[in-house]
Amino acid sequence: MSIKTDVVIIGAGPAGLFQVFELGLLDIHAHVVDALPQVGGQCAELYPDKPIYDIPALPVCGAQELVDRLMEQIKPFAPEFHLGQTVTGLQRNEDGRFRLETSAGTVFDTATVILAAGLGAFQPRRLRVQGAEAWEHKNIHYRVTDPDRVAGRRIIILGGGDSALDWTLELHGKASHITLIHRREEYRAQPNSVKRMKALAAGNDLEEFQGNVRGVFEKDGAFGGLDVVDPDDERHHIEADEVYVFWGLTPNLGPIADWGLELEKRQIAVDTECFQTSESGIFAVGDINTYPGKKKLILSGFHEAALAAFAVQKHLHPEKKARLQYTTTSPIMHRRLGVE
Ligand code: FAD
Repeated sequence: MSIKTDVVIIGAGPAGLFQVFELGLLDIHAHVVDALPQVGGQCAELYPDKPIYDIPALPVCGAQELVDRLMEQIKPFAPEFHLGQTVTGLQRNEDGRFRLETSAGTVFDTATVILAAGLGAFQPRRLRVQGAEAWEHKNIHYRVTDPDRVAGRRIIILGGGDSALDWTLELHGKASHITLIHRREEYRAQPNSVKRMKALAAGNDLEEFQGNVRGVFEKDGAFGGLDVVDPDDERHHIEADEVYVFWGLTPNLGPIADWGLELEKRQIAVDTECFQTSESGIFAVGDINTYPGKKKLILSGFHEAALAAFAVQKHLHPEKKARLQYTTTSPIMHRRLGVE
């Protein structure tokens, strides 16, 4: 069963979120898909605590605060979010609409698509050592889907940031033994988590290990563990049943590059009158697009979203005459915003 809709926005970064608002003002409801489990794109994923100084009328605004404010602003339009899903397929149907599919199996039948996909979908940094690929999703994982799976098993956790430390603390006591491997002595995680981990490492069932992974080894045809080289260049065979890799996320344009859209240096070319791509009905806003003079700034994405919304309206209702209405004075806008 597919979800029938007028618009699917790919990407819940600042451009995608503001796109919901601009569409909402025109009475167009949107579905939003993002590969990340949370909204906010780069702002939430890469620099949530940093202050931003170039958002109009906000002399200073934290990056996460900006995302929270956008979420508040779009509330009246009740967008439907599909998070933790990467859009993997996009095809045009015979009737001119689009079939859009996600990694979670969600299928949309949509009249238009707005790409607000930034630098691409954030994907976990993979363990790229010889032999690792064959064990991925069997014994080598990039997220914990079921903490009970580790019960009574020896696990290795790779990483030195918050995810690695949080999961070490969470899985301690469930797994029979944890080896936390980080390439440096210092951790990037919250000091309190590091302190708690160090206290647990004084016991028998958690070991801290400094080193770099060099390979995977097998034992009797099954997964055996990791080969790790310590700072003195000595090789260690660390046995484990499961490995959890928390090396952060990196953006990847992925399938979008294969959808036949005109690209310039892996950015999507758009017409700046309406932010439509080379395909009628597919629009692109924010960091993902390019045009002469493009600047990858949040405020550029906001402007682009406004014009794209009008273009989507025209695409959906070519017969309707679009009238610009001010949110200050228009009773229609007030009704849509719920501020009557
Ligand atoms: P993004 O924020 O990149 O969001 C895109 C979203 O799309 C992501 O969440 C991604 O997971 C999702 N996505 C992509 N492909 C898919 C797919 N196939 N399926 C599902 N989801 C997908 N800009 C400023 O204006 N001022 C600043 O001060 C500023 N400071 C910055 C500081 C840092 C450290 C960084 C890294 C950037 C900064 N920027 C700043 C840039 C700003 O963050 C970007 O311009 C902005 O985030 C772009 O927004 P976006 O919505 O286009 O894309």
